[in-house]
Amino acid sequence: MKNKKLVIKQTRKYGKGVFAGEDIKKGKVVRELSGERMTIDDFIRKVNSGKENINDPLQIGRRTYIDYDELSRTINHSCDPNCGIRKVKELFALRDIKKGEQITYDYSSIIAPTVWQMKCKCGSKNCRKIIKDVLSLPKKQREKYQKLGAFQTYMKVLLKEVDAGTYKTPKYEIRLLESLNKRYEGDTKINKRSRLSS
Ligand SMILES: [Zn+2]
Repeated sequence: MKNKKLVIKQTRKYGKGVFAGEDIKKGKVVRELSGERMTIDDFIRKVNSGKENINDPLQIGRRTYIDYDELSRTINHSCDPNCGIRKVKELFALRDIKKGEQITYDYSSIIAPTVWQMKCKCGSKNCRKIIKDVLSLPKKQREKYQKLGAFQTYMKVLLKEVDAGTYKTPKYEIRLLESLNKRYEGDTKINKRSRLSS
């Protein structure tokens, strides 16, 4: 799969971000997000040993994550993003993107129901200020992502279960994530290194 040209640059306020190196048309694949596959146990071990930030891995299944490579993990969140993630980890354009624009996606769209939260200062008109898991998305926003196909395969199944009332909270995973949450408390809850868009 051909990845679009992307460049890592310093943003004005919030550290590094990823920018479009060329114009990208709506619906086009921006990048197949990449990194090593890991289980939730590997993920927790890495965070506890300081090798990983809790916001860095991408969940791709109920118990499976990928440990993002540098470019993938540098892509910032926005409450009004120009990209979304579909299939397993395919980043694609939600609208036409101009060369030089910062590439963003909505972190809430990829976070299964947990205790996760992060402060946001993305500056968009609809900024939610504190972002949480997928179920915290305003109805309109969720419907917009659904219409545009901006949910991962496993997340679509999960949302169907939630709507049908058959979703079971994964107790084991929640317990592990909560233990991390405590560790990060007092520091934007669990967001140690702010990765907010400028
Ligand atoms: Zn925001």
